[in-house]
Amino acid sequence: SSQGEPVLVVSDLARSFGGVAAVDGVSLTVRAGERLAVIGPNGAGKSTLFALIAGQERPDQGRVTLLGRDITGVPASRLARVGLGRTFQSPRPFLTLTVAEALRTAARLSLPRREADARAAFLLERLGLGALASHPGGGLAQGEVRRVDLGLALAGRPRLLLMDEPVAGMALGERAALMDLVGALAHEEGFAVLFTEHDMAVVFGFADRVVVLDRGRALAEGSPEAVRENPAVRACYLGA
Ligand code: ADP
Ligand code: MG
Repeated sequence: SSQGEPVLVVSDLARSFGGVAAVDGVSLTVRAGERLAVIGPNGAGKSTLFALIAGQERPDQGRVTLLGRDITGVPASRLARVGLGRTFQSPRPFLTLTVAEALRTAARLSLPRREADARAAFLLERLGLGALASHPGGGLAQGEVRRVDLGLALAGRPRLLLMDEPVAGMALGERAALMDLVGALAHEEGFAVLFTEHDMAVVFGFADRVVVLDRGRALAEGSPEAVRENPAVRACYLGA
């Protein structure tokens, strides 16, 4: 649905570390209802791009706009309140809070207390975490950690969900179920999704558009089918 309104606009974003241009002039737009995948070989700049969007890193150059608001360099802690939710490549389990407490705490960052607590209760059930409500964050299984992290990202009712390798470390059999859950919630709640993923079955099964990064630059962009057939993309993946 490339007809939707722009939710996220990234313009000419750049960030170097020492002499390495991790992200080197990337522009992209995510529209309402869209599911955009960013793929590329290791070191292509995917995580840095996400860190720039999500306020973990400041860009050397360029702009990030969310729902028409300039969020360039806005710290991560403030972004949930303006409509950005994110999951992590390696979610760190919270050790002292229970699953329910963590979800309530996250929701209260963006929503009034009663609404936040209702949102947390809804997410506990919807993400199949009800039985773990009183369980501390430590000692959860990998798939549970991923679902809790998704719940934390959705706690503030985001308009854009950013996911960095959402199924990394999960059993193959659990991956489709997690992505189906994300897809169902995106449809119900109307948030757009921007994600990276190495599992191509997940990329091609979930994305409706794909951007290919290589050495910090966007090498190709298009439908999953078009990108898969692109000779430059094949060369960058196969090293040909
Ligand atoms: P990807 O997620 O696509 O694997 P990254 O964004 O993690 O790529 O890395 C892109 C490049 O930037 C790599 O060369 C990486 O070594 C470098 N890089 C990323 N973060 C840092 C950092 N904090 N300090 C130094 N170099 C970094
Ligand atoms: Mg990465």
